[in-house]
Amino acid sequence: MNILVINCGSSSLKYQLINSASEAVLAKGLCERIGIEGSQITYQPAGGEKEVTVSPMPTHTQAIQMVLDALTNDKTGVIKSLDEVGAVGHRIVHGGEAFTASTLITEEAVKAIEECSDLAPLHNPANLIGIRACQELMPNTPMVGVFDTAFHQTMPEKAYLYGLPYEYYEKYKVRRYGFHGTSHSYVSKRTAEVLGRPYDSLKTVVCHLGNGSSISAVLNGKSVDTSMGLTPLEGLVMGTRSGDVDPGALQFIMHKENMDIDQMLNVLNKKSGVYGMSGVSSDFRDVENAANDGNKKAEVALESFAYRVYVGAYAAAMSGVDAIAFTAGVGENDKITRKKVCEYLGFLGIEIDDEANSKRGQEIVISTPDSKVSVLVIPTNEELAIARETLALVK
Ligand code: AMP
Repeated sequence: MNILVINCGSSSLKYQLINSASEAVLAKGLCERIGIEGSQITYQPAGGEKEVTVSPMPTHTQAIQMVLDALTNDKTGVIKSLDEVGAVGHRIVHGGEAFTASTLITEEAVKAIEECSDLAPLHNPANLIGIRACQELMPNTPMVGVFDTAFHQTMPEKAYLYGLPYEYYEKYKVRRYGFHGTSHSYVSKRTAEVLGRPYDSLKTVVCHLGNGSSISAVLNGKSVDTSMGLTPLEGLVMGTRSGDVDPGALQFIMHKENMDIDQMLNVLNKKSGVYGMSGVSSDFRDVENAANDGNKKAEVALESFAYRVYVGAYAAAMSGVDAIAFTAGVGENDKITRKKVCEYLGFLGIEIDDEANSKRGQEIVISTPDSKVSVLVIPTNEELAIARETLALVK
Protein backbone atom coordinates (compact mmCIF):
# COMPACT_ATOMS: atom_id res chain seq x y z
CA MET A 1 0.00 0.00 0.00
CA ASN A 2 1.18 3.56 -0.70
CA ILE A 3 0.80 5.96 2.20
CA LEU A 4 0.81 9.71 1.82
CA VAL A 5 2.38 11.34 4.87
CA ILE A 6 1.37 14.95 5.44
CA ASN A 7 2.94 17.42 7.84
CA CYS A 8 0.82 20.53 7.54
CA GLY A 9 1.83 23.88 9.03
CA SER A 10 0.08 27.22 8.83
CA SER A 11 1.72 28.26 5.57
CA SER A 12 3.72 25.20 4.56
CA LEU A 13 3.11 21.52 3.96
CA LYS A 14 5.66 18.72 3.76
CA TYR A 15 4.70 15.45 2.13
CA GLN A 16 6.11 12.02 1.32
CA LEU A 17 4.57 9.12 -0.53
CA ILE A 18 5.88 5.92 1.04
CA ASN A 19 5.36 2.35 -0.11
CA SER A 20 4.54 0.43 3.04
CA ALA A 21 5.86 -2.91 1.79
CA SER A 22 9.33 -1.75 0.75
CA GLU A 23 9.27 1.34 3.01
CA ALA A 24 10.76 3.23 0.05
CA VAL A 25 10.00 6.92 -0.41
CA LEU A 26 8.41 7.15 -3.87
CA ALA A 27 8.30 10.94 -3.89
CA LYS A 28 8.57 13.82 -1.49
CA GLY A 29 8.39 17.57 -1.36
CA LEU A 30 7.15 20.72 0.16
CA CYS A 31 4.54 23.44 -0.48
CA GLU A 32 5.63 26.82 0.79
CA ARG A 33 3.95 30.19 1.30
CA ILE A 34 0.43 28.77 1.19
CA GLY A 35 -2.02 31.67 1.32
CA ILE A 36 0.82 34.16 0.78
CA GLU A 37 2.10 35.68 -2.42
CA GLY A 38 4.89 33.68 -4.12
CA SER A 39 3.72 30.17 -3.20
CA GLN A 40 5.63 27.27 -4.66
CA ILE A 41 5.71 23.48 -4.63
CA THR A 42 8.84 21.37 -4.63
CA TYR A 43 8.41 17.83 -5.89
CA GLN A 44 11.08 15.15 -6.04
CA PRO A 45 10.36 11.66 -7.35
CA ALA A 46 12.75 8.94 -6.11
CA GLY A 47 15.87 8.96 -8.27
CA GLY A 48 14.59 11.97 -10.22
CA GLU A 49 15.29 15.65 -10.42
CA LYS A 50 13.80 18.08 -7.93
CA GLU A 51 11.12 20.24 -9.61
CA VAL A 52 10.10 23.62 -8.26
CA THR A 53 6.84 25.11 -9.56
CA VAL A 54 5.77 28.61 -8.61
CA SER A 55 1.98 28.75 -8.59
CA PRO A 56 -0.68 30.46 -6.51
CA MET A 57 -1.97 28.37 -3.60
CA PRO A 58 -4.53 30.48 -1.80
CA THR A 59 -5.65 27.58 0.40
CA HIS A 60 -4.32 24.28 1.75
CA THR A 61 -6.85 22.44 -0.43
CA GLN A 62 -5.20 23.92 -3.49
CA ALA A 63 -1.76 23.03 -2.14
CA ILE A 64 -2.78 19.41 -1.59
CA GLN A 65 -4.42 19.35 -5.02
CA MET A 66 -1.03 20.37 -6.46
CA VAL A 67 0.69 17.59 -4.50
CA LEU A 68 -1.79 15.04 -5.87
CA ASP A 69 -1.38 16.41 -9.40
CA ALA A 70 2.41 16.11 -9.09
CA LEU A 71 2.17 12.54 -7.82
CA THR A 72 -0.11 11.48 -10.69
CA ASN A 73 1.46 13.63 -13.41
CA ASP A 74 1.97 11.75 -16.74
CA LYS A 75 5.65 12.61 -17.03
CA THR A 76 7.20 12.60 -13.57
CA GLY A 77 4.37 11.20 -11.42
CA VAL A 78 5.04 8.03 -9.44
CA ILE A 79 1.46 6.69 -9.45
CA LYS A 80 -1.20 6.50 -12.16
CA SER A 81 -4.18 7.58 -10.11
CA LEU A 82 -5.21 8.46 -6.57
CA ASP A 83 -6.58 4.93 -6.20
CA GLU A 84 -2.95 4.00 -5.57
CA VAL A 85 -2.92 6.03 -2.34
CA GLY A 86 -4.20 3.57 0.25
CA ALA A 87 -4.15 5.88 3.27
CA VAL A 88 -3.01 9.28 4.50
CA GLY A 89 -1.02 9.75 7.72
CA HIS A 90 -1.17 13.21 9.30
CA ARG A 91 1.35 14.53 11.77
CA ILE A 92 -0.50 16.26 14.59
CA VAL A 93 1.38 18.26 17.17
CA HIS A 94 -0.78 18.12 20.29
CA GLY A 95 -2.98 15.26 21.39
CA GLY A 96 -3.31 16.48 24.98
CA GLU A 97 -4.39 13.70 27.33
CA ALA A 98 -7.02 12.59 24.83
CA PHE A 99 -4.60 10.68 22.61
CA THR A 100 -2.20 8.12 24.00
CA ALA A 101 -1.65 6.58 20.58
CA SER A 102 -2.27 7.25 16.91
CA THR A 103 -5.90 7.30 15.83
CA LEU A 104 -8.08 6.73 12.80
CA ILE A 105 -9.48 10.08 11.75
CA THR A 106 -13.21 10.10 12.42
CA GLU A 107 -15.46 13.08 13.10
CA GLU A 108 -15.11 12.28 16.79
CA ALA A 109 -11.30 12.31 16.53
CA VAL A 110 -11.38 15.62 14.66
CA LYS A 111 -13.46 17.11 17.48
CA ALA A 112 -11.01 15.86 20.10
CA ILE A 113 -8.07 17.29 18.10
CA GLU A 114 -9.95 20.60 17.90
CA GLU A 115 -10.32 20.53 21.67
CA CYS A 116 -6.52 20.21 21.98
CA SER A 117 -6.04 23.36 19.86
CA ASP A 118 -6.12 25.43 23.01
CA LEU A 119 -2.83 23.74 23.99
CA ALA A 120 -1.15 24.28 20.60
CA PRO A 121 -2.89 27.25 18.97
CA LEU A 122 -0.25 27.66 16.26
CA HIS A 123 -0.07 24.01 15.25
CA ASN A 124 -3.25 22.00 15.74
CA PRO A 125 -5.50 24.29 13.67
CA ALA A 126 -3.02 24.02 10.78
CA ASN A 127 -2.90 20.22 11.15
CA LEU A 128 -6.71 20.14 11.05
CA ILE A 129 -6.78 22.26 7.91
CA GLY A 130 -4.56 19.59 6.30
CA ILE A 131 -6.97 16.85 7.37
CA ARG A 132 -10.00 18.72 6.04
CA ALA A 133 -8.29 19.46 2.73
CA CYS A 134 -7.34 15.79 2.24
CA GLN A 135 -10.86 14.67 3.15
CA GLU A 136 -12.25 17.03 0.53
CA LEU A 137 -9.98 15.70 -2.20
CA MET A 138 -9.87 12.02 -1.16
CA PRO A 139 -13.19 11.42 0.61
CA ASN A 140 -12.90 7.63 0.56
CA THR A 141 -9.27 7.28 1.65
CA PRO A 142 -8.75 6.32 5.30
CA MET A 143 -6.68 8.76 7.35
CA VAL A 144 -4.72 8.46 10.55
CA GLY A 145 -3.49 11.10 13.00
CA VAL A 146 -0.06 10.57 14.58
CA PHE A 147 0.66 12.82 17.57
CA ASP A 148 3.94 14.35 18.73
CA THR A 149 2.75 14.05 22.31
CA ALA A 150 1.29 10.51 22.35
CA PHE A 151 4.50 8.57 23.07
CA HIS A 152 5.08 10.58 26.25
CA GLN A 153 1.62 9.86 27.66
CA THR A 154 3.20 7.01 29.65
CA MET A 155 5.07 9.52 31.84
CA PRO A 156 4.13 9.14 35.50
CA GLU A 157 2.34 11.95 37.32
CA LYS A 158 5.47 12.85 39.29
CA ALA A 159 7.24 13.60 36.01
CA TYR A 160 4.46 15.41 34.19
CA LEU A 161 3.10 17.63 36.97
CA TYR A 162 4.51 21.12 37.43
CA GLY A 163 5.16 22.44 40.91
CA LEU A 164 2.08 24.63 40.55
CA PRO A 165 -1.27 24.67 42.34
CA TYR A 166 -2.98 21.41 41.36
CA GLU A 167 -6.11 23.27 40.32
CA TYR A 168 -4.39 24.50 37.11
CA TYR A 169 -3.94 20.89 36.08
CA GLU A 170 -7.52 20.05 37.02
CA LYS A 171 -9.07 23.10 35.38
CA TYR A 172 -6.86 23.57 32.32
CA LYS A 173 -4.76 20.41 31.99
CA VAL A 174 -1.60 22.45 32.50
CA ARG A 175 1.13 19.80 32.74
CA ARG A 176 4.15 18.59 30.84
CA TYR A 177 3.28 16.71 27.64
CA GLY A 178 6.55 16.48 25.72
CA PHE A 179 7.03 16.59 21.96
CA HIS A 180 9.06 14.88 19.20
CA GLY A 181 7.33 11.69 20.42
CA THR A 182 7.34 10.04 17.00
CA SER A 183 11.10 10.53 16.84
CA HIS A 184 11.77 9.38 20.43
CA SER A 185 9.67 6.28 19.80
CA TYR A 186 11.29 5.45 16.44
CA VAL A 187 14.85 6.08 17.65
CA SER A 188 14.48 4.14 20.92
CA LYS A 189 13.07 1.14 19.02
CA ARG A 190 15.85 1.24 16.43
CA THR A 191 18.41 1.51 19.22
CA ALA A 192 17.18 -1.78 20.69
CA GLU A 193 17.16 -3.39 17.22
CA VAL A 194 20.66 -2.18 16.34
CA LEU A 195 22.00 -3.45 19.69
CA GLY A 196 20.09 -6.73 19.32
CA ARG A 197 18.51 -6.18 22.74
CA PRO A 198 14.82 -6.56 23.69
CA TYR A 199 13.04 -3.20 23.57
CA ASP A 200 10.97 -4.05 26.60
CA SER A 201 13.97 -4.43 28.89
CA LEU A 202 16.24 -1.59 27.83
CA LYS A 203 16.97 1.77 29.45
CA THR A 204 17.56 4.30 26.70
CA VAL A 205 18.15 8.04 26.76
CA VAL A 206 17.25 9.60 23.41
CA CYS A 207 18.83 12.98 22.61
CA HIS A 208 16.84 14.57 19.79
CA LEU A 209 19.08 17.56 19.05
CA GLY A 210 18.00 19.74 16.16
CA ASN A 211 16.68 23.22 15.77
CA GLY A 212 14.19 22.12 18.41
CA SER A 213 15.80 19.81 20.95
CA SER A 214 14.45 17.40 23.52
CA ILE A 215 15.68 14.46 25.52
CA SER A 216 13.72 11.48 26.80
CA ALA A 217 14.11 8.55 29.15
CA VAL A 218 12.65 5.41 27.56
CA LEU A 219 12.35 2.61 30.10
CA ASN A 220 11.36 -0.81 28.75
CA GLY A 221 9.82 0.75 25.64
CA LYS A 222 7.90 3.49 27.47
CA SER A 223 8.69 7.16 27.84
CA VAL A 224 9.01 7.95 31.54
CA ASP A 225 10.32 11.49 31.24
CA THR A 226 11.12 14.10 28.64
CA SER A 227 12.41 17.64 28.65
CA MET A 228 9.70 19.55 26.78
CA GLY A 229 6.58 20.62 28.62
CA LEU A 230 3.16 22.07 27.95
CA THR A 231 4.82 23.66 24.94
CA PRO A 232 8.09 22.93 23.10
CA LEU A 233 9.79 25.84 24.86
CA GLU A 234 10.79 23.97 28.00
CA GLY A 235 13.98 22.02 28.56
CA LEU A 236 17.25 22.18 26.66
CA VAL A 237 18.86 25.22 25.06
CA MET A 238 17.83 25.04 21.38
CA GLY A 239 18.54 26.76 18.06
CA THR A 240 16.45 29.86 18.81
CA ARG A 241 14.47 28.71 21.89
CA SER A 242 15.75 29.39 25.38
CA GLY A 243 14.72 26.18 27.13
CA ASP A 244 14.38 26.46 30.93
CA VAL A 245 14.69 29.95 32.40
CA ASP A 246 13.76 31.19 35.85
CA PRO A 247 10.35 32.86 35.40
CA GLY A 248 11.60 35.52 37.84
CA ALA A 249 14.29 36.45 35.31
CA LEU A 250 11.58 37.01 32.72
CA GLN A 251 9.66 39.38 34.98
CA PHE A 252 12.92 41.25 35.63
CA ILE A 253 13.69 41.60 31.90
CA MET A 254 10.12 42.59 31.05
CA HIS A 255 10.26 45.44 33.57
CA LYS A 256 13.66 46.63 32.40
CA GLU A 257 12.84 46.42 28.68
CA ASN A 258 9.22 47.45 29.00
CA MET A 259 8.02 44.30 27.24
CA ASP A 260 4.65 42.57 27.48
CA ILE A 261 4.32 38.79 27.79
CA ASP A 262 3.87 38.22 24.05
CA GLN A 263 7.03 40.18 23.28
CA MET A 264 8.90 38.22 25.96
CA LEU A 265 7.68 34.90 24.56
CA ASN A 266 8.72 35.98 21.10
CA VAL A 267 12.25 36.56 22.45
CA LEU A 268 12.21 33.17 24.21
CA ASN A 269 11.02 31.32 21.10
CA LYS A 270 12.79 33.12 18.29
CA LYS A 271 15.71 35.14 19.58
CA SER A 272 17.22 33.00 22.29
CA GLY A 273 19.02 29.65 22.43
CA VAL A 274 22.31 29.22 20.65
CA TYR A 275 21.32 32.06 18.33
CA GLY A 276 20.66 34.54 21.12
CA MET A 277 23.64 33.47 23.19
CA SER A 278 26.14 33.60 20.32
CA GLY A 279 24.61 36.47 18.38
CA VAL A 280 25.76 34.54 15.29
CA SER A 281 23.18 32.04 14.04
CA SER A 282 20.86 29.22 15.09
CA ASP A 283 22.73 26.90 12.74
CA PHE A 284 25.43 24.98 14.61
CA ARG A 285 27.71 24.98 11.59
CA ASP A 286 27.85 28.79 11.61
CA VAL A 287 28.29 28.92 15.38
CA GLU A 288 31.11 26.35 15.24
CA ASN A 289 32.87 28.32 12.49
CA ALA A 290 32.57 31.49 14.57
CA ALA A 291 33.91 29.68 17.66
CA ASN A 292 36.85 28.39 15.62
CA ASP A 293 37.54 31.98 14.56
CA GLY A 294 37.83 32.95 18.22
CA ASN A 295 34.29 34.22 18.90
CA LYS A 296 33.96 33.70 22.66
CA LYS A 297 30.17 34.05 22.77
CA ALA A 298 29.84 31.38 20.10
CA GLU A 299 32.18 29.12 22.07
CA VAL A 300 30.22 29.48 25.29
CA ALA A 301 26.88 29.01 23.48
CA LEU A 302 28.06 25.62 22.19
CA GLU A 303 29.49 24.63 25.57
CA SER A 304 26.29 25.64 27.29
CA PHE A 305 24.18 23.70 24.79
CA ALA A 306 26.16 20.50 25.40
CA TYR A 307 26.32 21.04 29.17
CA ARG A 308 22.54 21.33 29.31
CA VAL A 309 21.86 18.02 27.54
CA TYR A 310 21.19 16.53 30.96
CA VAL A 311 21.61 12.84 30.15
CA GLY A 312 22.53 12.19 33.80
CA ALA A 313 19.11 13.30 35.05
CA TYR A 314 17.36 11.01 32.58
CA ALA A 315 19.59 8.10 33.52
CA ALA A 316 18.63 8.78 37.15
CA ALA A 317 14.92 8.71 36.18
CA MET A 318 15.46 5.07 35.13
CA SER A 319 17.98 4.15 37.85
CA GLY A 320 20.52 3.55 35.13
CA VAL A 321 21.07 3.66 31.41
CA ASP A 322 22.02 0.99 28.86
CA ALA A 323 22.08 3.12 25.72
CA ILE A 324 22.21 6.75 24.65
CA ALA A 325 21.03 7.59 21.14
CA PHE A 326 21.70 10.83 19.30
CA THR A 327 19.36 11.95 16.55
CA ALA A 328 18.05 14.94 14.48
CA GLY A 329 20.08 17.59 12.62
CA VAL A 330 22.69 18.25 15.30
CA GLY A 331 22.60 14.82 16.94
CA GLU A 332 23.11 13.05 13.61
CA ASN A 333 25.66 15.37 12.03
CA ASP A 334 27.64 17.13 14.69
CA LYS A 335 30.43 14.97 16.07
CA ILE A 336 31.80 17.85 18.15
CA THR A 337 28.56 18.33 20.07
CA ARG A 338 28.16 14.55 20.57
CA LYS A 339 31.68 14.36 21.92
CA LYS A 340 31.13 17.32 24.25
CA VAL A 341 27.88 15.83 25.61
CA CYS A 342 29.60 12.49 26.20
CA GLU A 343 32.57 14.12 27.92
CA TYR A 344 30.18 15.06 30.73
CA LEU A 345 29.23 11.40 31.03
CA GLY A 346 32.60 9.88 31.78
CA PHE A 347 31.28 9.06 35.29
CA LEU A 348 28.87 6.60 33.63
CA GLY A 349 31.85 4.75 32.19
CA ILE A 350 31.19 6.05 28.68
CA GLU A 351 34.02 5.96 26.15
CA ILE A 352 33.63 7.24 22.60
CA ASP A 353 35.34 5.74 19.55
CA ASP A 354 36.46 8.87 17.70
CA GLU A 355 36.63 7.17 14.34
CA ALA A 356 33.07 5.85 14.57
CA ASN A 357 31.94 9.23 15.90
CA SER A 358 33.25 10.96 12.78
CA LYS A 359 31.02 8.94 10.40
CA ARG A 360 27.79 10.53 9.17
CA GLY A 361 24.39 9.58 7.81
CA GLN A 362 24.18 6.05 9.16
CA GLU A 363 23.04 4.06 12.16
CA ILE A 364 26.20 3.43 14.09
CA VAL A 365 27.49 2.58 17.56
CA ILE A 366 30.00 5.29 18.47
CA SER A 367 31.07 3.97 21.87
CA THR A 368 34.05 1.66 22.30
CA PRO A 369 33.47 -2.05 23.09
CA ASP A 370 34.67 -1.32 26.68
CA SER A 371 32.19 1.50 27.24
CA LYS A 372 29.76 0.69 30.07
CA VAL A 373 26.92 2.35 28.15
CA SER A 374 26.36 1.99 24.40
CA VAL A 375 26.22 5.29 22.54
CA LEU A 376 24.65 5.36 19.09
CA VAL A 377 23.72 7.69 16.27
CA ILE A 378 20.31 6.79 14.88
CA PRO A 379 19.04 9.00 12.05
CA THR A 380 15.42 9.75 12.84
CA ASN A 381 12.69 9.10 10.30
CA GLU A 382 9.44 10.62 11.46
CA GLU A 383 7.73 10.17 8.09
CA LEU A 384 8.45 6.45 8.04
CA ALA A 385 7.25 6.16 11.62
CA ILE A 386 4.02 7.95 10.65
CA ALA A 387 3.59 5.64 7.64
CA ARG A 388 4.05 2.57 9.87
CA GLU A 389 1.53 3.84 12.42
CA THR A 390 -0.91 4.61 9.61
CA LEU A 391 -0.53 1.17 8.08
CA ALA A 392 -1.10 -0.50 11.45
CA LEU A 393 -4.43 1.27 11.85
CA VAL A 394 -5.82 0.89 8.34
CA LYS A 395 -4.68 -2.67 7.57
P1 AMP B 1 16.60 19.64 12.49
O1 AMP B 1 15.77 20.64 13.26
O2 AMP B 1 16.60 18.29 13.10
O3 AMP B 1 16.28 19.64 11.03
O4 AMP B 1 18.12 20.15 12.61
C1 AMP B 1 18.56 21.29 11.93
C2 AMP B 1 19.86 21.77 12.52
O5 AMP B 1 20.86 20.76 12.44
C3 AMP B 1 20.49 22.94 11.77
O6 AMP B 1 19.96 24.18 12.17
C4 AMP B 1 21.96 22.82 12.15
O7 AMP B 1 22.17 23.57 13.34
C5 AMP B 1 22.15 21.36 12.48
N1 AMP B 1 23.06 20.70 11.54
C6 AMP B 1 22.78 20.18 10.34
N2 AMP B 1 23.90 19.66 9.77
C7 AMP B 1 24.92 19.90 10.63
C8 AMP B 1 26.34 19.62 10.63
N3 AMP B 1 26.92 19.00 9.61
N4 AMP B 1 27.05 20.03 11.69
C9 AMP B 1 26.47 20.66 12.73
N5 AMP B 1 25.14 20.94 12.80
C10 AMP B 1 24.38 20.57 11.76
